[in-house]
Amino acid sequence: MNNRCEGNCVSRRAVLLAAGATSLIALTASEAEAKIAQAAVKYQQEPKDGKQCDGCNFFIAPNACKQVDGEIVPTGYCLLWVKKAS
Ligand code: SF4
Repeated sequence: MNNRCEGNCVSRRAVLLAAGATSLIALTASEAEAKIAQAAVKYQQEPKDGKQCDGCNFFIAPNACKQVDGEIVPTGYCLLWVKKAS
C-alpha cells in the first residue's frame, strides 16, 4: 500500500471539514449564552444616581440578571443599566 489518494481522499477531507465547522458552531452558540463578568461592567451592590437593578430591564427577580453573571442584588447597579420597560 502507498500514500497516494485512491478516490476517497477528498471525501475524507470533507468529513473532517464538516466536523470542524460543527464544532465551531457549537462553540459560538455556547459563547452567545455566556454572561458578562460583573467586573467587566463595573457591577456594584449599591445604586448609582437613583438607578438600581430592580429598575433595570435585564433584572431577573429575585437575584439574577439576563446579561451579567453571578448573584445580583436588587439594589445593585452596573454600566449596562437600562430603564425597565413598563
Ligand atoms: S444594572 Fe446591570 S447587573 Fe443590574 S440588572 Fe441591569 S444589567 Fe443586570
